[in-house]
Amino acid sequence: MQIFNEVQYYIWLFFWGYTGALLGGFYGVLYFRLENVTKRKIANSLREWMAVLMTSSECDYCNIQLKWYHYWPIFGYVFLGGKTKCCNETIPVKYFLFELCGMCIFLSVFVLTY
Ligand SMILES: [Zn+2]
Repeated sequence: MQIFNEVQYYIWLFFWGYTGALLGGFYGVLYFRLENVTKRKIANSLREWMAVLMTSSECDYCNIQLKWYHYWPIFGYVFLGGKTKCCNETIPVKYFLFELCGMCIFLSVFVLTY
């Protein structure tokens, strides 16, 4: 049974693929922030733990606060050519891989389901 027409199918494909990239990127950032916090043992209060979730992303090299389009999943990395805008250093590929994995997981579930 066909649920979607072809156009609807590709719209949903893009939607779920990009949702996967967003969640993958979010998970990646959360993972690396928590890794830093637990390594340095700096989070002693609830406020410090909340900061892991609530603070804006900063450049790994010069700590300048990033603009939203710099960490725009997939596109941000591609448009910046893998280099940071502020100090022209190489963006760690780990963030991009998390976004890509999230996208692949969501796309595979969508394609296998519909
Ligand atoms: Zn920088």
